[in-house]
Amino acid sequence: MNTSGHTLRTDLVNIFHVMYQKGFIASSEGNASARLGPDRILITTRGVHKGFLRAEQLIETDLDGKAVSDERAPSSEIALHLAAYREREDIAAVIHAHPTTAIACTLADISLADGALPEVVTALGAIPTVPYVTPGTREAGEAICPFIRQFDALMLARHGSVTVGGSLQEAYSKLEMLEHAAQILFRARLLGGGRPLPEAEVTRLLRAGGHDPDRVLSQVQAGKVRLAS
Ligand SMILES: [Zn+2]
Repeated sequence: MNTSGHTLRTDLVNIFHVMYQKGFIASSEGNASARLGPDRILITTRGVHKGFLRAEQLIETDLDGKAVSDERAPSSEIALHLAAYREREDIAAVIHAHPTTAIACTLADISLADGALPEVVTALGAIPTVPYVTPGTREAGEAICPFIRQFDALMLARHGSVTVGGSLQEAYSKLEMLEHAAQILFRARLLGGGRPLPEAEVTRLLRAGGHDPDRVLSQVQAGKVRLAS
């Protein structure tokens, strides 16, 4: 194995151990991948406990999800990863997790795309919610396509999160930010608040973060409309 492949395996294992300790996944839930080359990724094998993940439980696949030189099956949710890599040549890592407060927000129809927290708007643009699709299906991958083209952090209704980045560290940081934002919004709702910022301020923050306000706001609107499905 080359040096970068070895480093990526180590980084993936370390990220899983952190995600498990932070409560972003439980048991065999969640999966993460990293790009090894233009048409190769490294991803977790199916059904392994992520809190005790070992480097040999990662496998290499092509962008059709076919394992390269390996008899084992990749994660049952590989369609999410393949869709993200196909849509975004700029990304090098994809993390799918089950962050509890953020999932609870989708169950309670609390949108994380409302623009209530300025730093989330600047960093991520918005966190839209993808309408519910049966997990582990090809359709689950197709469902994220219109959203992942525009956003680096998504919620899958009733299910979990998808975050992407130029590195594993970046994708993980976005997951942490997403769950932290959900925890703040959840507490604000309990206290009777949580109103979004005025649209003019959201627009200003989006520009400051290098996002296109028209595109983000129209997508956010679509996300809100679909939130309850
Ligand atoms: Zn999942």
